[in-house]
Amino acid sequence: MRTRRHLTRGLRFRLTASYALLFALLMVGVAALFRERLVYTFNSEAHDILEQEWAAMKGYLRIERIPTRGHALPSWRPTWEYDKNDPDEDFAVERLRRVYLLTDAKGTVMEVSTIYQSIGIEPPREIESDIKIGKPVWKLRSSPHGIPYLIRAGVVYDEKHQSPFWVAVGRPMDESDKILKRYTWMYAGVIPFSLLCGCLLGWFLSGRALMPVIEVAQAAQRISGSNLSLRIPTRAAGDELDYLVLTFNRMIERLESSFQQIRQFSTDVSHELRTPITAIRGQLEVALFTAKTGDQYRDAILNCLQDVERLSQIVRALLLLSQAESGQLALQKTRLDLSGVVHDIVEQFQIPAEGAPVELSADLAPDCLAEVDRVQIERMLSNLLSNAIKFTPAGGRVHVTLRHLPEAIELAVQDTGCGIPEEHIPHIFERFYRVPTQTTCANPEPGLGLGLSFVAWIAKAHGGAVRVESKLGSGTRFTVTLPSSLAGPSPVEPVSSTVALG
Ligand code: ADP
Repeated sequence: MRTRRHLTRGLRFRLTASYALLFALLMVGVAALFRERLVYTFNSEAHDILEQEWAAMKGYLRIERIPTRGHALPSWRPTWEYDKNDPDEDFAVERLRRVYLLTDAKGTVMEVSTIYQSIGIEPPREIESDIKIGKPVWKLRSSPHGIPYLIRAGVVYDEKHQSPFWVAVGRPMDESDKILKRYTWMYAGVIPFSLLCGCLLGWFLSGRALMPVIEVAQAAQRISGSNLSLRIPTRAAGDELDYLVLTFNRMIERLESSFQQIRQFSTDVSHELRTPITAIRGQLEVALFTAKTGDQYRDAILNCLQDVERLSQIVRALLLLSQAESGQLALQKTRLDLSGVVHDIVEQFQIPAEGAPVELSADLAPDCLAEVDRVQIERMLSNLLSNAIKFTPAGGRVHVTLRHLPEAIELAVQDTGCGIPEEHIPHIFERFYRVPTQTTCANPEPGLGLGLSFVAWIAKAHGGAVRVESKLGSGTRFTVTLPSSLAGPSPVEPVSSTVALG
């Protein structure tokens, strides 16, 4: 079934979306910050200019008292003193008076420019209170046409410094306002455009970055149980993706080897089971078609029973081995003296050795303490001993040694048997592996080929190892090393049981 891929759930979409969002936030943030700086610069510039104009106004404006008769209220006359023949001064005063208001201390207008009139003259009460405060006042006002004006107002005095007057000068802010508006509109157009370009670029770049991931996924899809030999090619870029591919390939390698083992195991099992089943079938057919007497039937049944026994031996051993290898067979470890355990097993094997006849001897160092599972150690030694006796011709010798090493205990089973050809040595610990019948061997009874698999597993499960040295025609030596335990022996010992599987 084809999986429906949602565009919005794709990594590419999400990468592009986050990239676009970040980009948009960054652009809006930068634009706002820049606009803020611009406003601040325009304002401080206007303040500076107005401050200069205020100072110039104070230099040119004179307020004189007009002499009055009797008790009439004093009246005042403002005059602008400058060189009227100087065009620069004339222009400067003209400019000063463009946005200008002069009132007396009560707020009565003495002089006002047309522009200021259009902006609106402050009510007398406001002027009076401003004069009382005595500090410069800054205001932002708008004309009826919407032109903003920055106003600087404050108190000036007459020539004799007797009476206060209120003066306001201003300048239009429309230019800077226009620039700000133009800037805002420009950004409002530029942001969506750059965002669109950014999205397209992000979509393209994330597509390129994710392309190898898609290639890896496609290659991975081609790998199935039947073609586990396929590997995903690395791009030799040494990046995270190559690391992922490498890890994936290693996983496939392990899977392939497990599949191979399972396949081999199934082949071996079916092969092993087929032989006794064919034999049983043959015996039964012979009995059915040719047996006439009760003895003949009994013989056939006996033969069948032997084969059934072999079958059940195989099944039992396989079950045990698979339990061991899948970790279901937990070790019951206790601290015990291995010399006692080995001695007991050697004693048990004296009878089969005599039957061979093979001389079975042992040289066991005392106090070989180790943390082991007694049942498994007995099983391991039984397998080694039964093999040694089986593969040693009559009159040969089997010798068992147990000794201390600096940090381990070494158990060795040495025989003077037929030996193992060199090319078979690497395989003898594999399941169902049996060395083809050798001329030097006294044609022993065929085993299951599982005994040494157990030996290897038991040694490994105890944190030890097993190695084999063999010389064709001279004998074989199996050496097992187990970690030793130097502390005192544990009071509890498990019940002994010996199972020979080989
Ligand atoms: P088997 O049931 O055949 O004994 P094992 O796994 O115990 O299975 O052993 C695998 C093979 O290793 C045997 O078939 C035999 O050919 C070889 N082998 C094991 N022990 C010895 C030995 N002491 N001397 C010679 N060959 C041995």
